[in-house]
Amino acid sequence: VANTISGSPFLPSSSSLDSRMEQSFIMIKPDGVQRGLVGEIISRFEKKGFYLKGVKLLSVERSFAEKHYADLSARPFFPALVDYIISGPVVAMVWEGKNVVLTGRKIIGATNPSDSAPGTIRGDFAIEMGRNVIHGSDSIESAWKEIALWFPEGIAEWKSNLHPWIYE
Ligand code: ADP
Repeated sequence: VANTISGSPFLPSSSSLDSRMEQSFIMIKPDGVQRGLVGEIISRFEKKGFYLKGVKLLSVERSFAEKHYADLSARPFFPALVDYIISGPVVAMVWEGKNVVLTGRKIIGATNPSDSAPGTIRGDFAIEMGRNVIHGSDSIESAWKEIALWFPEGIAEWKSNLHPWIYE
């Protein structure tokens, strides 16, 4: 995909940009979509300064959800977790920025909403672990795997003109 502003004199060269950039897979779970939290959640990542590089609303099949959560397949809550994820459409996203994996997890909050601090997405909008609104990759390696799984078609390539106002 062509990067329409790659020649802009206001931006560092793409190589020096990319070395600081990291991507995370963020998914608004079916409860977040049903409760109308899509705009609020996207807004929090946008206002932080992260760049939206991929986004789509889709419903996934059981086998796909099982693949996404394969690491948890031995856990007792696995069947309920898979039922939850396939219960309605989700919003799958790729967000980019410096430390977006770790910072994204902080924006999202602890897995159990009882432990999520107010100000985090789960702290503000969720009560139960099985209805905790949002998923975020827990490492750079899981992010690569999850982005490849959810966006096999690839993602858009674009550079924000705000870059010099967000990064020094
Ligand atoms: P996170 O989503 O914070 O990375 P995990 O990867 O450990 O957390 O778990 C994936 C999802 O499985 C959680 O977001 C939550 O919806 C669900 N889950 C995790 N632990 C439990 C549990 N003990 N009981 C019910 N659901 C759980």
